[in-house]
Amino acid sequence: MYNFPPTSGFPFASKNCIRGEGVKIAMIVLPYLTDKVANRFWSKVQIAPPNECWEWMAGLKDNRVFRNRYGAFRVNSHINIRSHQVAYIFANQCDIPDGMVVCHTCDNPKCCNPSHLWLGTNTDNMRDAALKSRLKIPNNSGEKHGMSMLLEDDVRKIKFAPQYWGIGRDLALRFGVSPQTVAMIRSGKRWSHVI
Ligand SMILES: [Zn+2]
Repeated sequence: MYNFPPTSGFPFASKNCIRGEGVKIAMIVLPYLTDKVANRFWSKVQIAPPNECWEWMAGLKDNRVFRNRYGAFRVNSHINIRSHQVAYIFANQCDIPDGMVVCHTCDNPKCCNPSHLWLGTNTDNMRDAALKSRLKIPNNSGEKHGMSMLLEDDVRKIKFAPQYWGIGRDLALRFGVSPQTVAMIRSGKRWSHVI
C-alpha cells in the first residue's frame, strides 16, 4: 500500500520529538537505521490504513524479555529494541531522549503506526494508562477500596504473569501503578485475597 522507507519524510509521524543540543540520548539508534535496515523493519509490520493499528508480525514468540507484548527488533547486531520504538525513531528521524518513553495512543503494544505513537515521560505514560482504563470503586478492600486503581482481574494478571527480568516495570507501566505496588502484589503482601 505504501512504499517503505519513504523517500522523504514520513506521512504519519507524530512530530513531537525533542531535538537539539543538550538532549541526552539513552541509546543511539537513528544512525544505524539505513535503508536496508528500514526495509527489513517495515517488511515485518502489517501496514494498514493510516488510522488503524499497524501490528508487528515477527519477533514475539522467541523473545523472552518482551514476551508476547511488544515486538522486538535487532539493529546492527548489538541493539535490541522494541519495534514501536524503531517505528517512532524512523518516522520522526529522532532518537529517544533519556528518560522518555514511546507511548501508544491505541494501547496496542504491537502497534508500529507512527501516528499512534507519542513521546512522554514514564509518569505521562502511567497517568495515561490510569486515565484510560482504571475505575475507582468505593468500598474497603481490594478493588472496592477508594484509593485503588486496580480491578481484581488486573491484580490477577499482575500476580500470575510469568517472571522475567523487567516484568515489574512492564506491569507497572501497563496497569498505571508503581513498581512497588507490583512487587507487593506479586509477593502476596497486597491483594492476597485475589487468587
Ligand atoms: Zn495502534
